[in-house]
Amino acid sequence: MKAAVLKETSPGERRVALVPDAVSRLRPAGIDVLVESGAGDGAWLSDAAYADAGASIVSAAEIYRTADVILTVTRPPSVSELRAGQAVIGMLAPLAGPEFAAALAARGVTVISLDGLPRTLSRAQPMDALTSQSNVAGYKAVLVAAGEFGRFFPLLITAAGTARPAKVLVLGTGVAGLQAIATARRLGAVVSGYDIRPTSKDEVTSLGATFVELTSVGSAAGEGGYARELTAEERQAQQEELTGHIARQDVVITTAQVPGRKPPLLVTEDAIKAMAPGSVIVDMAASALGGNVTGSVPGETSVTGNGVTIVGAENLAATVPTAASAAYSRNISAMLLHLTRDGALAIDTSDEIQAGVVIAHDGRVVHEGVASLLQPAQPQSGQPQSAQPQSAQPESAEGGPGVDGPSN
Ligand code: NAD
Repeated sequence: MKAAVLKETSPGERRVALVPDAVSRLRPAGIDVLVESGAGDGAWLSDAAYADAGASIVSAAEIYRTADVILTVTRPPSVSELRAGQAVIGMLAPLAGPEFAAALAARGVTVISLDGLPRTLSRAQPMDALTSQSNVAGYKAVLVAAGEFGRFFPLLITAAGTARPAKVLVLGTGVAGLQAIATARRLGAVVSGYDIRPTSKDEVTSLGATFVELTSVGSAAGEGGYARELTAEERQAQQEELTGHIARQDVVITTAQVPGRKPPLLVTEDAIKAMAPGSVIVDMAASALGGNVTGSVPGETSVTGNGVTIVGAENLAATVPTAASAAYSRNISAMLLHLTRDGALAIDTSDEIQAGVVIAHDGRVVHEGVASLLQPAQPQSGQPQSAQPQSAQPESAEGGPGVDGPSN
């Protein structure tokens, strides 16, 4: 079987789906690796490094013509070049744009999306790209904040005076948030964390940070370890109580997401106004639909009238491309090996992992959540049709946790 790596083409995307190390690990399973020339350039991985590892360096056209499986980080640049019998594996965000999966299904392309992985299965952990990329992003968010901040993070006592440590608050302490806490602690900041899932308290405190407990809003633990969406009353109570905590911080990093929903607004205009000049907010949930912070725009940094810098973080994992690619390469290799039997892909959606990640196969969208977004236009394989047509808007997406997880 030929597995091929395309050069990523999304703006700012510097990751690559496989690193050279993976080439020899795939070969025993009968997988030969083709790499588009220059695919690793953004992550400082040369064609020569891939060739030394045993990969063939080829053009994109040859990949489209000859590959059995195409490995990507995000969506491949061309749908029209893909052909029947080929498979694409990547983080393809099928709930955010189910038409993409439908278009590939119509061409007979098998679509496998790592962001649909059932993450709580322990045997799926080596394939968990959402976690590996959130880890990288959480780390980088702190460096971005430190870069914007006009003071030190650690306590420094020098002949020229004493600098007090920065106070950092992390809102949303899932994978990215916990890594942000750990990184801010390593830099010497005084760190606190808050999450609507009370179970995260032990994780926060075990990293040496203080857990912020709100009295006005209780637990909102949802399914699969994720948070549920808050009611309007809960949201308002949460925002008001958080404002007091936010006002005392030098740096706030927000990561809160609810799968398939618009990110919750945690830092309101009032909270921003209450912060001191020179404070920094990094919104890792910033998206076209809004983020955790009033006024944050993905990919943009702005300074408010009262001197608060707001960074709308966008695809932070891609800005640490070598580490992010190495981790992603292990995830996608593990997935490819899981799917391979006797040197070919063996699609079997009775397997719990495959049921989550296989989006389209045999000319049909087979993933229940994605298919329901396409109805009535797209018949769902072997499933009764839902009466309710769904839009691709995250507010109405119902594919279950993980299929369109955070893109941080
Ligand atoms: P995520 O990106 O969906 O959300 C980030 C955090 O935001 C979550 O901790 C969530 O609780 C929090 N959040 C959502 N709404 C909030 C609100 N209104 N106020 C405050 N916080 C809010 O989450 P994630 O990082 O992908 O992880 C989610 C969960 O999945 C965690 O419990 C994590 O431990 C778990 N997980 C488990 C495994 C595993 O078992 N192998 C792997 C990965 C993640």
